[in-house]
Amino acid sequence: MTGTEFFDEGELVGVLTTQPLDRLLDYKAPEGGCHLGAFVEVPLGPRKVLGVVWGPGRGDYDRAKIRSVIRVLDAAPMREEMQLFLRRAAEYTLTPMPAMLRLATRAPGLGDPPSMRKIYRLGDGEPSRLTDARRRVMEVLRDHTGLAFTLKELAELAGVTSSVIKGLVEQGAVREEDSPRDLPFPPMDPERPGKELTEDQAAAASVLRQALRTERYGTTLLKGVTGSGKTEVYLEAVAQALRMGRQALVLLPEIALTSEFLTRVEARFGARPAEWHSGATMTERRRIWRMVGQGQVQLVIGARSALFLPFQNLGLIIVDEEHDTSYKQEDGVLYNARDMAVLRASICEAHVVLASATPSLESWANAEAGKYAKLELTARFGSAELPEMRSIDMRAETLQSGTWISPTLKAAVEARMARGEQALLFLNRRGYAPITLCRACGHQIGCDHCDARMVEHRFLKRLVCHQCGETKPIPTICPSCDAEDRLTAVGPGVERLSEEAASLFPDARIATLSSDLYGSARALKAEIEGIAEGAADIIIGTQLVAKGHNFPLLTLVGVIDADLGLQGSDLRAAERTFQLMRQVAGRAGRAEKPGTALLQTYQPEHPVIRAILAGDEEAFWRAEAAERQQAGVPPYGRMAGIILSGPDVAQVFDLGNALARQDAPLRKIGAQVFGPAPAPIARIRGRHRVRLLVKAAKGSPLQAALARWIGQFTLKGDLRLSVDIDPQSFY
Ligand code: ADP
Ligand code: ZN
Repeated sequence: MTGTEFFDEGELVGVLTTQPLDRLLDYKAPEGGCHLGAFVEVPLGPRKVLGVVWGPGRGDYDRAKIRSVIRVLDAAPMREEMQLFLRRAAEYTLTPMPAMLRLATRAPGLGDPPSMRKIYRLGDGEPSRLTDARRRVMEVLRDHTGLAFTLKELAELAGVTSSVIKGLVEQGAVREEDSPRDLPFPPMDPERPGKELTEDQAAAASVLRQALRTERYGTTLLKGVTGSGKTEVYLEAVAQALRMGRQALVLLPEIALTSEFLTRVEARFGARPAEWHSGATMTERRRIWRMVGQGQVQLVIGARSALFLPFQNLGLIIVDEEHDTSYKQEDGVLYNARDMAVLRASICEAHVVLASATPSLESWANAEAGKYAKLELTARFGSAELPEMRSIDMRAETLQSGTWISPTLKAAVEARMARGEQALLFLNRRGYAPITLCRACGHQIGCDHCDARMVEHRFLKRLVCHQCGETKPIPTICPSCDAEDRLTAVGPGVERLSEEAASLFPDARIATLSSDLYGSARALKAEIEGIAEGAADIIIGTQLVAKGHNFPLLTLVGVIDADLGLQGSDLRAAERTFQLMRQVAGRAGRAEKPGTALLQTYQPEHPVIRAILAGDEEAFWRAEAAERQQAGVPPYGRMAGIILSGPDVAQVFDLGNALARQDAPLRKIGAQVFGPAPAPIARIRGRHRVRLLVKAAKGSPLQAALARWIGQFTLKGDLRLSVDIDPQSFY
C-alpha cells in the first residue's frame, strides 16, 4: 500500500463525507490536484463539509454540474490501510461509512490553518485584588502547573469571562505567550532502564519482543493476577516498538487512565505520552490527532476511541483489562474496541497484547483454540500475596431489617481499624436505595419516560432514573394512592451503606466512591489518590474501585452482595460476577500486608461463588465454556441484537413482526430470529423499544445476511433500527 495515487486538477474524485449519505460524491480535484486519502473540504448544497478523497469518481453524474473540491486540508492524507480498516470495521458492525469517518475525524479544528495562537499559563506576579473569579483562574492554573491553555479553555475551566483573564495578564499573574498550534511531543527513550524483571516477567517480555521483531500480525493474551507485573511486561513490548521506530497504543478503560499510570509511563520512557480521553482539551485532541498522523507521536495512552487515530506506523496495541465491558461502545457506532484492535493490527501487521487478570471468555477460548498466543504470570510481584477469600453465609447471620453489614463482616472491619489498615465495602449499586415503595398501596415510583424504577439519591435529595438521567424531588405523597408519608426506601445503594457504616463505626473516616458523587473525573481522581495515601479508614464503593488503582493500606474487602450479578437475563452474568469479584478481591493486600476478601452470599454453594472462593479460574472457564457451547452462544456461535425504537409502540411492533416474517435472507445461512419482544427496558426517554435476537452458527456470513434482511425495509417516520453485533448487554 503506497498511498501515493494522485489526482490532477479537474480529474473526478469520489469523496466520502461525514454526512449521512449512502454513497460517495463526485467532485473535481482542486487546483494543484490532490492525493488519494486527502482530507478535503467540499461543497454540499449551501454548506461546506469535511470529507476524504476515497478513490476515483464514478462519473455517472452530469459532468457540468460537478463542483470542485474547495481545498485540501493541512493534514496527512488517510493511509490506504486506514481506509481498509474503516471499511472492514463498517462491514463488521454494519455501520454506514460516514459514521465510521466521523469516528476517525474526532479532532476539532481539523480544517484550521496551522498558525500561531495565544496561550496562557501561570505567571510570576500575584493578582492585586483576589476576587472570586480571579481566585478560580489561579486555582485552575495552580492545579495544572506547567500546562498552558487557550483563552477559551481557561475561561471555561475557571467559569469566568475572558476579560478576567486579560486583567490577570496585565498584573503579571497570568502569562500570555505565542505558541504554534500543535506542539510536537517530546521524544521517548526506550533505552532507559526499566525495573529489573523477575524470571517470569523477563521470559514473557522476551517472547513479546520477539513477536514484535517479526513485524507480522499476532495476538497474545497476557494473563496474570493483579500485581503480577503485566504492566511492567507490556511496557517492555512498548520499548521494543519504539526501538523499531513503530508507534504504540495502550488502550485502557477510561477510569483506569490515572495520573498514577501516566507518571509510571513517564518514569519508564522519560517523557509523557500522548493522552487521548474524553477529558482531554480540544486543543490537546487536535494536537494528538495531527501529530499521530505525522508520525510525531510514539506512544498514545487512550480510551477506546484512540483506535481510530490516524497512526502512520502502528506496531503494537495493548488492550489492558481486555475483559472490561467499557470497551464496548453502547451508543452510536456499536463496536468492541478489543475486537477492533485485533482487526486494525491484522491490517497493519502489528502485534496485539490483551492483558487481564480475568480474561473474557472470548479471549480465553481464542487462546485455547490456538488463535492467540498465551503468556501467564503466576506470582504477585514481591511479597504481595493474593487475598484469602471466604464466604459469609448470610443465612446464618442475624441482621436487622434495613441493614446489610453482617456481624462477621463488622468484626473483621473493626479488627483492621484497630491495626490502622483500610477496609473496602463493595456494593455495585449507585444511590441510596434502588426502590421507593409505598407501604399503603405497594406502588413503586418509576421514571415517567422509561420503563425503569427511580433510584433515590439522598446526596442529591432527588430520585434519579439510571436510564435517562431524569430526576425528580423525593415525594412525600404517593403518586398512586395519595397516602402521606408512607413511602419507604427498599434495598441498599452505596449511599445507604455508608449511612449504615457511619452508625456501626462512629469513629471511622468513611469515603464513598461512586461515579455520580463527584463533579468531575478530576475530583474523583483526587479523592482516590487521597484515599490511597490513607485519608480514609473505610472505603465504600461501586465497581469504580474494582479497576486499576492501588490502595497499599487496604487489607480487607467485604463484598456486600456477592449474589447481585448472578441473577439476570444476561448471558455473561456469571462471567461478569466472577471477574468483578476477583478484581475487587485483588484490591486487598497489594503491598506488604496480606489481604482478606469476605463475600456475603445467600448461596455459597453456587458454582460461580465456589469457583471464586477456590480461586480455580480454569475450572470456572471450562464450565462456562461448556455451557455456552451447549447453547450455541458466543464465542461458540454468533449473535446479533436488533433494537427497534419509536414513539408509537404499535408501529415498532409492526416493524418487528415484519422483520421476523421476512427472514428468508437469514434462513438461507441457517440463522434463526427470536422475537420481537419488548426489550428488558421497554421504554427509554419516551421511546418504546423492541428487540429481536439473531443466532447463527460460528463462521456463517452473518453480517452480509443481516444487511440483505434489513435492506428489505425502509424506516418510516421516527422509527429507528440499530444492529448490535456480539451484544454485550441485553438492555
Ligand atoms: P499488573 O499490571 O499485573 O497489575 P503491575 O505491573 O502494575 O502489575 O505491578 C504491580 C506493582 O509491582 C507495581 O507497583 C510495579 O511497579 C511493581 N512491580 C512489578 N514487577 C516489578 C519488578 N520486576 N520490579 C519492581 N517492581 C515491580
Ligand atoms: Zn428515565
